[in-house]
Amino acid sequence: MACRDNEELQRFVEEAKKVAKDGKVASYIPALAKADQTDLSVAVYHVSNTCHSAGDVDKRFTLQSISKVLALAFVLSEEGPKKVFQFVGQEPTGDPFNSMIKLETASPNKPLNPMINAGALAVTSLIRGATPQDQLNRLIGFIRELANDKSITYCKETAASEFETSMINRAMCYYMKQYHIIRGNVEEVMDVYTKQCAIMMNSLDLAKIACVFSLDGRHPETGKQILSKDVARICKTFMVTCGMYNASGEFAINIGIPAKSGVSGGIMGAAPYDFGIGIFGPALDEKGNSIAGIKLLELMSEKYEMSIF
Ligand code: GLN
Repeated sequence: MACRDNEELQRFVEEAKKVAKDGKVASYIPALAKADQTDLSVAVYHVSNTCHSAGDVDKRFTLQSISKVLALAFVLSEEGPKKVFQFVGQEPTGDPFNSMIKLETASPNKPLNPMINAGALAVTSLIRGATPQDQLNRLIGFIRELANDKSITYCKETAASEFETSMINRAMCYYMKQYHIIRGNVEEVMDVYTKQCAIMMNSLDLAKIACVFSLDGRHPETGKQILSKDVARICKTFMVTCGMYNASGEFAINIGIPAKSGVSGGIMGAAPYDFGIGIFGPALDEKGNSIAGIKLLELMSEKYEMSIF
């Protein structure tokens, strides 16, 4: 069960906001450094197609790593798990999201899972399309369908800011190209990936998308089956095992719902058959998760016994 009371949600937001000062906004992507450290918003989208929210839920932010789940869902739907898992593994790494260390030490050389940067780059390279623009347009079309919102697009400034500075991701792409995990042109993969990460929405859209996963792929608003149950299941499992980077174990114990975070400060959580949740709080903890967002989820989980375990 989740919160069905906007005032209570607002009280949780006020309480959780207090820890925002202990975090830092991401600055390795220069455009993200402009975020307001004190922002915190939350939307809870119930499977009954009702919503509760608190904070500035109209404020848009870029998905960053949250896009990894959506790109994975898209590619799994198009290619099927058998093909996708030839290029990316299914195991948590225990390393930071941008680490490349296991690319060399793990055998075979494929990235360990699709929620780390290396794995997500490999997944993005599998999106079908004649050109990078075509690949991106197809992914955005899919995300618009998930959010039931045709206006969703990406932030050109953030995409360009990451494209120009993202040398570690580039290095990992070239490494994977050496081992035929990535087959396309690396600059084109980087182009699609950085734009994918810069897709923007607000916490309400994010909560609604999360709710599609909560409902095993069925849209809470339209009733349409957008993902197969199997694809939704695989994505939620990755969210539990690797969605919060190398804090996934702790998150599973303290909060206990499938979730994915991004360095812009977003968190998408999916409580099965109950609700989807979208949070935006750009101040991050040392592992790159929204510090106030996690605090908020801890407060909520304690009160509403949200854990699926
Ligand atoms: N675009 C970011 C990157 O590749 C996404 C990382 C994240 O959100 N953790 O570094």
